[in-house]
Amino acid sequence: MQVAEASRKSRAHPKRGANGGLRAVASTPASTGPVDIAATARRSFLDALPIATAVVVDRGGVLSVADANDRFGALDASRLVDATLPLIDCVPIAMALRSFFDDGGTGSVCIEWRDGDSVSGRHFNVYVAPLDSIAAQLGDGSARCLLSLVDRTVEVSNARSLRAELLHDSLTGLPNRSAFAEAVEEVVDSAGGEVHHAVLLVDLSRFSRINESLGGVAGDEVIITVARRLISTLRAGDLLARVGGDEFGILLRLANGIEDAAAAARRIQAVLSTPFRLARFEVGLECAIGCAMIGDDSASGEELVRNAQFALKRAKSTGRVEVHHAGEAACARYKLDLETELRRAIDVGDLRLAYQPIVDLASNRVCGFEALSRWNHPVRGSIDPAEFIPVAEEASLIVPLGRWALDTALATLAAWDKQAGGPVPLTMSVNVSAIQLARDDVPGVIAALLAQHGIDGSRLVVELTESAIVQDPERTTRALQALKGLNVRVAMDDFGTGYSSLSYLRKLPIDNLKIDRSFVSGMLQDRDKVAIVRAVLSLADALGKTTTAEGVETVELSQTLAALGCSHGQGYFYAAPLEADAALAYWQAQLG
Ligand code: C2E
Ligand code: MG
Ligand code: MG
Repeated sequence: MQVAEASRKSRAHPKRGANGGLRAVASTPASTGPVDIAATARRSFLDALPIATAVVVDRGGVLSVADANDRFGALDASRLVDATLPLIDCVPIAMALRSFFDDGGTGSVCIEWRDGDSVSGRHFNVYVAPLDSIAAQLGDGSARCLLSLVDRTVEVSNARSLRAELLHDSLTGLPNRSAFAEAVEEVVDSAGGEVHHAVLLVDLSRFSRINESLGGVAGDEVIITVARRLISTLRAGDLLARVGGDEFGILLRLANGIEDAAAAARRIQAVLSTPFRLARFEVGLECAIGCAMIGDDSASGEELVRNAQFALKRAKSTGRVEVHHAGEAACARYKLDLETELRRAIDVGDLRLAYQPIVDLASNRVCGFEALSRWNHPVRGSIDPAEFIPVAEEASLIVPLGRWALDTALATLAAWDKQAGGPVPLTMSVNVSAIQLARDDVPGVIAALLAQHGIDGSRLVVELTESAIVQDPERTTRALQALKGLNVRVAMDDFGTGYSSLSYLRKLPIDNLKIDRSFVSGMLQDRDKVAIVRAVLSLADALGKTTTAEGVETVELSQTLAALGCSHGQGYFYAAPLEADAALAYWQAQLG
């Protein structure tokens, strides 16, 4: 240590720290004795290191540099911040050294240190490592350590530019999905349950049409213009990001709660309503907007964006600006669970059919049955078709479910025939979803099943809702004509609740109109309902179609409907949907 002291004393240095430590480096040994040889060797060793390194001594709580290599000296001399202090006195480094020595001087310490501001400053990893154990103190109560600084500036700036690239959308220069998620997360963290921000998601409707018809370059041009227009709707403190191909996210600062979000949505709709000029085309764009309020149900940033997506999904079908409501996520999760379980139920045969009689009102005799799906869930109990059929439709499970229903219903009819010793004079009505009709070869499937079960086509009634016609009139027309070719009859289910046009009703081979329960039940107390039922009956009469009243619950209703000229009735007054055996027994009982 004397050597270090000697060499320290041998050089003058302008900078002294508050603790009296020296940052200077000995450039020439003070003497040529044997101890100086050790000092020279140590210097050479330090100089050989590729990083700025110094030996720091703690003498009675006072830190000083005993020796250092040229890199350390150069670094010390070129400091940007606190340049009048020795390096070892810069607060973070002094603290690292202090904690090293205070902990006994045996364990290493590593800190990150920045010299200058975060953008143009230099970044270092600072290591403090033991040179001697505390036991090998220098005789005068001092201890030593090796202080080294690894310059990470290039690495940090590379990481920063990479990150900047990762957080930006290259087409519009806007923050991208990840940056948006981060910004939302930050706002949520500081929200403290107060609603002062909202997430708006804006999805361009029919944007893919532009891409397909005018090409990707035109599509890019539209996206850039949309981004510019959306920027013009922002106020100070709002953030716009491109979160998907044709989807933008806005983090909106709210001064007046939801009213501000509604006003922003109106501004957005207004700027997007002006047509876009693309070469010689003028293209109109519409958008769907979903909104979630920050501060609602203490959701995380990620959940908030998801909530806004739920609202957006709804907005796409309603055409209105939709605001997320609590419970929507739970509802979506429930639907997903139901989908998984329904898939399984179809696979393992957990579904069954119940059969509800359809009565000829003139003779009061059962002339057929409607097959209705039933799902008795092992844990949740009985689940309504009104709940699981839409799930099946959304998840494309409706095709296997629909095939299963047709197969099972025809198998039941064949089993009844067998039991009765010949074909029973009964029809079997099966519901076919509009989505099934659009995705499956329904006539082909039915032809195969009729042949397989040995049932004549005239005994099968396919019940379709009006949505089938609205969704794809041409495909529906072809399918219905093919069914006609098989002698299969077609009933329009829930008639009066949809939007089928009268011209299709006339053109399509539809045999029966099923008057929706909502018009039938309570009809006797409501003159408007009677008027609607009368109108449907006379329409059916004019078009040469039979009618079935759904939801007949009382004898009075049954008699009134018969008097009005309705040909068939179905409802709890006759019987609720029954098991196959009970249904056959019901029919047999009313024969005698
Ligand atoms: P839907 O085809 O209009 O069937 C008539 C519905 O009314 C049945 O409900 C039936 O149980 C109920 N109902 C019958 N009479 C009465 C009555 O007097 N009063 C009351 N309040 N209700 C009565 P369910 O079985 O819950 O089925 C609901 C809907 O689910 C069906 O309406 C049909 O659209 C659909 N559905 C059922 N099974 C299937 C299926 O296998 N495939 C498809 N695609 N849809 C099905
Ligand atoms: Mg039906
Ligand atoms: Mg119906």
